[in-house]
Amino acid sequence: MVASEAAPFIKTGGLADVLGALPAALAERGEQVAVVLPWYGEARVEASRCVLEEFPVCGGPARYGVRVHEAVWRGVPYFLVECAELFGRKGIYFDEKGDFPDNHVRFAVLNKAALAVARRRFRPDIVHCHDWQGSLAAIYLRSVFAGDPVFLGVKTLLTIHNLGYQGIFPAETLPAMGLDATVFHIQGVEFYGKVNLLKGGILYSDALTTVSRAYAREIQTPEYGCGLEAVLAARSSVLTGILNGADYSEWSPETDRYLPAHYSREDLAGKQVCKRALLAELGLPEACMERPLVGIVSRLVSQKGFDLIEEAAPELMKCGVCLAVLGTGESRYETFFRTLVAAHPDRAAARIAYDNPLAHRIEGGADIFLMPSRYEPCGLNQIYSLRYGTVPVVRATGGLDDTVDEETGFKFREYSAAAMMGALKEALAAYRNPERWRALQRAGMARDYSWAASAAQYSACYRKLRLAS
Ligand code: ADP
Repeated sequence: MVASEAAPFIKTGGLADVLGALPAALAERGEQVAVVLPWYGEARVEASRCVLEEFPVCGGPARYGVRVHEAVWRGVPYFLVECAELFGRKGIYFDEKGDFPDNHVRFAVLNKAALAVARRRFRPDIVHCHDWQGSLAAIYLRSVFAGDPVFLGVKTLLTIHNLGYQGIFPAETLPAMGLDATVFHIQGVEFYGKVNLLKGGILYSDALTTVSRAYAREIQTPEYGCGLEAVLAARSSVLTGILNGADYSEWSPETDRYLPAHYSREDLAGKQVCKRALLAELGLPEACMERPLVGIVSRLVSQKGFDLIEEAAPELMKCGVCLAVLGTGESRYETFFRTLVAAHPDRAAARIAYDNPLAHRIEGGADIFLMPSRYEPCGLNQIYSLRYGTVPVVRATGGLDDTVDEETGFKFREYSAAAMMGALKEALAAYRNPERWRALQRAGMARDYSWAASAAQYSACYRKLRLAS
């Protein structure tokens, strides 16, 4: 696998969680997996050994001295590419001045180094690329290394985690990545006169996956395709959706170390204890025990549908719910929640922060989890909510659509405040019927979105690739 981040070494988002958990789940199935990623200045590496002494990697005409170190995580080798000049700085993709201007060179060197690892240290039959930062491996294998006997028969798989980021650079950057006009055309990396690395990955990989079946369909439409819908539609026969897994060793109400009480599908009593403690922690009155508590844990960005909540806020508060919000992000939404809390201090609380223990306690203590995303490639919080008996109310998009159904939660399709309120009111009606509510909670808690199931699907994908001529 070639990727730009992997937990526990370096993490800015969900991609790192996938690269930290999927390889071990695959190894458990008998796959031999290795991951190549940069050794950033900010990376946390406890133990490693140098496995490839300094060797030159060309980023176009420039040469960089690179060393490769091996660290082991959950039994899987992670090859860290050291090149102080490119990766040893503060920041992963950008700093306060914006995106690093040499990102194309940085990830060109990562991918060239990954292929050096494949040549000298770990001979793969499949190179599994992640997002635009890993796409160059697939592009190189079909261009500069096309005739190289070492890579004869090697297949490529590209996983798209978020189509919103494509790695677009001016055409003039092509030589600095060691590429030339042979890939700069409409069936290659060219995209409206620029270089689009994700597009190249999509067209040059043997197979494609994304992180839910619904998102795989959606990204072939203009509404979700970010300009690449036609390119993706042309490759739909090799595109599949595989959900990300949840780490239930961290996220289970039976064992969660952050909860004041534990509970299970068979015995939900502890959930009331969690609710009472959460209200106290957030400074909400005991009287809220009698009301449905709606939880929100999210980055406060427009992707997550906060404009709908903003529009529906007066009606939402009229429904008699209490609200527990945790998130940071755009100041517009931070201000909105602060204002809402000021207007309803006895029924709404918001923590504008990143606070993992509190995220667990909201999952444990809330009755309903609200996630009205505009788009959602996979989404994890609704998966956690199911396991915690916190009934999700979600927009039917991407992974939300694939993981929530009428037995376990409530969905709305149209992106509007009215549709969201419609689904929420259905949930509130169900909440007033304790028997119905228990059935919803228990059905959700029984669902299994562990990594083992996802890994089995990736294995099937690899098998198909190995068999293809
Ligand atoms: P995304 O990757 O788009 O942010 P996901 O639902 O896939 O959305 O994953 C979000 C993850 O980040 C979850 O594990 C969630 O609990 C966590 N998270 C988001 N915001 C916060 C926050 N303010 N405090 C603690 N955890 C948060």
